[in-house]
Amino acid sequence: MENIENKNTKISCEICPRKCSLAPGQFGFCKTRFNNGEKIISQSNGYSSGFAIDPIEKKPLYHFYPTSTALSFGTFGCNMGCNFCQNYHISKIGFAQSKAFNATPEQIVNTAIKYNCKSIAYTYNDPVVSFEYTIETAKTAKENNIKNVAVTAGYISSKYRKTFFENIDAANIDLKAFSEDFYKKNCLAHINPVLDTIRYVWHETDTELELTTLLIPNENDDEEQLKREFEWIASNLSTDIPIHLSAFHPAYRMSNKERTSVNSIINAYNIAKEFELKYVYSGNIIDDLTSATSCPKCKYKLIERNGYNVRLLTENPSVCPNCREKIYGRF
Ligand code: SF4
Repeated sequence: MENIENKNTKISCEICPRKCSLAPGQFGFCKTRFNNGEKIISQSNGYSSGFAIDPIEKKPLYHFYPTSTALSFGTFGCNMGCNFCQNYHISKIGFAQSKAFNATPEQIVNTAIKYNCKSIAYTYNDPVVSFEYTIETAKTAKENNIKNVAVTAGYISSKYRKTFFENIDAANIDLKAFSEDFYKKNCLAHINPVLDTIRYVWHETDTELELTTLLIPNENDDEEQLKREFEWIASNLSTDIPIHLSAFHPAYRMSNKERTSVNSIINAYNIAKEFELKYVYSGNIIDDLTSATSCPKCKYKLIERNGYNVRLLTENPSVCPNCREKIYGRF
């Protein structure tokens, strides 16, 4: 998996675009992967920092078996450096601070089965840093008819993308902004590998794809940037892809910033609609209108949401019962 020169020299981790070059004993930017003297391994392999049973809508995934539950689990560390991280208590720490406990892929899958979870969600911190653990658990889940859901920033190298997404049934990829400056300044990363991952998942896999942009006041919510983002999605991907426009809560290095206003989210929603994106949703605010799923053709309401209270208004939302329009997703 990695280039091994000799026992005393550095080894490059090639999982993500950072390509950390690590001396024996040294950890990468993610605080998870390290050089054990022979190869790069992930310290999170077999260790979880916590589990929860969540509505699938919390991931957020609105077009993937709505009303089902996901067994969510995370590890620790992250390969992004986001100043606004909403999960910084697990993403910014290593194994020693994490209180992580041993959980084998089989135990995770058995827990999902025991609690009737339709899927396992690799979430909280980015599952890319726990690459081997994620793919092993996903394979075991698949063998047991449990679906796999990845919640990720999509910051993964082209070399490992295919293996990572092979057993992932649905993904919510964070498109944190539509600006290289924003990615550099606020995530210590670059936008192009993320766009490449999004393109890859949409065009080359069967993974159900949804995107999320967390709108941060005066950082990534200007009209010009939003228009570029929606235009890119409409012309490079598809107007079928569900987009979640979520409100930021002050956290981590942006704890002095104001929350995103409801008006700002609704404004972004209306801009997205100008680009004829069919399924646009508000997130982290309560608003019936912008959180419902309606048929893009005849506007018949198919799914109603109020927070995580979800009501299917038709038995099978994959086809509009009024005009027979096909609705994107898995239901
Ligand atoms: S996964 Fe971690 S160690 Fe590997 S390149 Fe990315 S940040 Fe560096």
